[in-house]
Amino acid sequence: MKSQIELVCICCPMGCQMQLHVEGRAISEIEGNTCKIGLNYARQECIDPRRMLSTTVACKNGLWPRLPVKTAEAIPKAMMGEIARSLHFLAVTAPVEIGAVIVENICGTSINVVATRSMPKVKLEADNN
Ligand code: SF4
Repeated sequence: MKSQIELVCICCPMGCQMQLHVEGRAISEIEGNTCKIGLNYARQECIDPRRMLSTTVACKNGLWPRLPVKTAEAIPKAMMGEIARSLHFLAVTAPVEIGAVIVENICGTSINVVATRSMPKVKLEADNN
């Protein structure tokens, strides 16, 4: 069975409108992309759509109460909710260095979650005594 899928490439601000011609489970033709990046994106989006996830986790003893984190690679789009929920319940303790691995192999994806900024420890009055 032949079908056509409309897709907007999100890889750069040009936002090329693409048409994917699909026969059964195979892509027979891709139109509308300006470059090869769009071609690869369209194929990936059809087979295994993925996205980067950026969020925050709770941070104890830090300068700020939340630490910004992101997945080191794009994760399966279908697992976004599960991964975001697991990070929602996570708390780390300062100090944390930028790039530090916060979670290894998040939800069995083989992908790590890393800190996107350093978080110094807050010096409490009790620390000075
Ligand atoms: S196809 Fe290429 S030029 Fe078009 S939006 Fe994607 S990356 Fe940008």
